[in-house]
Amino acid sequence: MSPKPIPPPEGFKPALKQGRAWCPVCGEETRFRYDGRLDCARCSQCGISERDFYVRQYNRLWADGDLDRFTRSVRSAKTAKIKKGG
Ligand SMILES: [Zn+2]
Repeated sequence: MSPKPIPPPEGFKPALKQGRAWCPVCGEETRFRYDGRLDCARCSQCGISERDFYVRQYNRLWADGDLDRFTRSVRSAKTAKIKKGG
């Protein structure tokens, strides 16, 4: 089973600094969580890795430095207070 990736709306800009990115599986901008075992960030809802081709494409994480920066943002966002409700 390989679901078709869902692209973000035109002009979408992910809030990478807040540890959020477009998830091609969930079809929305989701919070990413740091996975210490694999040393990468994963969608908090479906678990897809930031290194997935479509995650990188839709969030423009092509340069290694970009991916690295995003991983660090996710790591630091982990301890930040999560806004609930809404
Ligand atoms: Zn997801």
